[in-house]
Amino acid sequence: MVQHLRAEGERCEPVLAALAVVPRHQFVDSALAAQAYEDTALPIGLGQAISKPSVVARMLALLFEGRDAARSGSLGRVLEIGTGCGYQAALLSLLAQQVISVERLRPLYERARDKLAPLRRDNLRLVYGDGRLGHPPNAPYDAIICAAGGDDVPAAWLEQMAIGARLIAPTRSDTGLGQVLLVVDRSAQGWSRQCHEGVHFVPLRSGTA
Ligand code: SAH
Repeated sequence: MVQHLRAEGERCEPVLAALAVVPRHQFVDSALAAQAYEDTALPIGLGQAISKPSVVARMLALLFEGRDAARSGSLGRVLEIGTGCGYQAALLSLLAQQVISVERLRPLYERARDKLAPLRRDNLRLVYGDGRLGHPPNAPYDAIICAAGGDDVPAAWLEQMAIGARLIAPTRSDTGLGQVLLVVDRSAQGWSRQCHEGVHFVPLRSGTA
């Protein structure tokens, strides 16, 4: 999988190293384990999906290009919205000082907790809740990454970014591309946005279930 991503042009070494370490097959249903290292999205139950490894790698690499991450070589304090099966949370725990990951569907939150427990990542905390609100107790964050596509970026996320932080979220764009990867950087002067390629993520929803 990592060789394939390298061949496709992915060059962010810390991200490739994390992808080489975390066993993706352990996060999906055993019937799908044979496909776990192909570059495809896979169902994780309740209509949700684990993203393609190339998209996961791309989003993490874009976070590494943020001002503070590029300087320090770590993603710092990270907020993930959409724990899903916990795979990306496991990767983040290798790349960041502290990770808070929020999931709104209780069965997925509980399953991710069970899958992640044996990895014993002390710097990773899972939260059951509506990630559209961010997670104020641990704010501000140096990086925010969302794994579900919204119509906009909630104001709570922007407010919970540290100065120098970067956010990445699949977001509906008005440019006719549909959903795109939106990158937001916060500096002392304010927030700046860049739109990247089109993507297909499950929807960001409000409330818990
Ligand atoms: N990063 C995940 C991908 C999960 S798919 C992984 O590695 O498996 C996106 C997830 O976002 C789904 O589990 C969905 O339930 C969750 N989600 C959608 N809206 C949310 C919200 N408002 N708060 C928290 N999680 C949300």
